[in-house]
Amino acid sequence: MITTLLDGNKRFVRDVFEKEKDYFAELSKLQRPTVLWIGCSDSRVPVNTITQTRPGEVFVHRNVGNIVATNDWNLSAVLEFTINHLQIPDVVICGHYNCGGINALMHEDADDRYIPIWLNNAYKAMERVDDKLRSLRLQVSEDQRRRLIEEENVRLQLEHLLEYPFVRRAMLDGKLTVHGWMYDMDNGEIKVMQKN
Ligand SMILES: [Zn+2]
Repeated sequence: MITTLLDGNKRFVRDVFEKEKDYFAELSKLQRPTVLWIGCSDSRVPVNTITQTRPGEVFVHRNVGNIVATNDWNLSAVLEFTINHLQIPDVVICGHYNCGGINALMHEDADDRYIPIWLNNAYKAMERVDDKLRSLRLQVSEDQRRRLIEEENVRLQLEHLLEYPFVRRAMLDGKLTVHGWMYDMDNGEIKVMQKN
C-alpha cells in the first residue's frame, strides 16, 4: 500500500504538477484559501475529491467526529490562523452519515481509553436526540437514531465554534459565516443543513 502512495505521487507530478506548473508556482509563494473545512478524519470523506477543489482552495482540519472542542489547542490554533491571519470568510463543519465516531459514541468500547474522552465533546448531541425521541414517544431504528445524532452533532459543534470570542466577533462584524453540512457517502451528495 505504501508504495502505491509513492507511485501515485509520481503520477501526480507527471500528470498534474508538471502540466499546471504556473498554478503551483504561484501557490508556493502564497496560500489564499477561502474556506476552512472542519470534517471527520474518515478516509471516505476526502475533502478535495468530494468538493472538486484544488490545492490552495480549502484549509482543512479533520478529526474523529468533526468535533470542535474549545480545549483543543490544535483546532484553536487553526481557527486563530485562518480567521485572524488568513481572513477566511467561511467555515464549514461537515459531518457525514455512517460515522464510526458517532457509532463509537453510541456503543462505547470498554477497552478504549482515548476515544470515549474525545467523544465526550459530542455526548450532548446524543442526549438531545434521545430526549427528543423520548418526549415524542418515537421509535426509530438504530440506523435512523445514528443519522439524527450525526446531524445534531454538527449543530452542537457549530455552537462550540461560537464559544470562541474571536469567532463570534468576526461573525458579528459580518466577516465570517459558518455552515453546517452533511455528506452522504451512499450517493456522494452534500446536504446543507437548515439552521434551527
Ligand atoms: Zn466520521
